[in-house]
Amino acid sequence: MSRTKILQGDCQHCGGRVEFPAEHAGLTTECPHCQQPTELFLAAPPQASTVPVKTMVFAFLAVLILVGGWIGTQMALKRAQQLTERANAVAVSGTPTPPAISASGLAGEAGFQISAVLFEKTAGKAEIYAVGTLRNETDRQRLGVRVELDLFDASGVRVGSATDTVRVLKPGAEWRFKARVTDPNTTSARLKAITEQP
Ligand SMILES: [Zn+2]
Repeated sequence: MSRTKILQGDCQHCGGRVEFPAEHAGLTTECPHCQQPTELFLAAPPQASTVPVKTMVFAFLAVLILVGGWIGTQMALKRAQQLTERANAVAVSGTPTPPAISASGLAGEAGFQISAVLFEKTAGKAEIYAVGTLRNETDRQRLGVRVELDLFDASGVRVGSATDTVRVLKPGAEWRFKARVTDPNTTSARLKAITEQP
């Protein structure tokens, strides 16, 4: 009398446990759980990894390095993007973001160098600010420096102005100005004047 060994396998479709006589291994049968045809094979014993641990650690390290490289690339891309955005005067933080200010003709007025002017809006707050940096390009101290911007709506109509003042701007120093924009319809701004206390 021959005893048939009963083996256990997993359904290839539903993963259900399928028991079968040893001599049926390799045959296809209907899964008792999902009724799909599945090949009968011995279920892999738990944790029977054929990959040596060293290789796995190695692979893991490789993945880490790849991910690290990817993050580095993303950071570099982001940085480049930020720089480009700054250069192109694309609006900064907050929603909704008003369009960019025109940066043309803003540079090099009377020994000052002004950056592109951006709109800044803090989420959850109504205030909008026109921000940028102004550098004293000269080797003398400037006093009572005032930046004045003309503000325009989407159709190009002037809706007001925004100003900010700094008391002292040292030679070669940079000042980050922040001029309050009162009209919420403001979509662009243009430098009107940079003045100093006489
Ligand atoms: Zn199944």
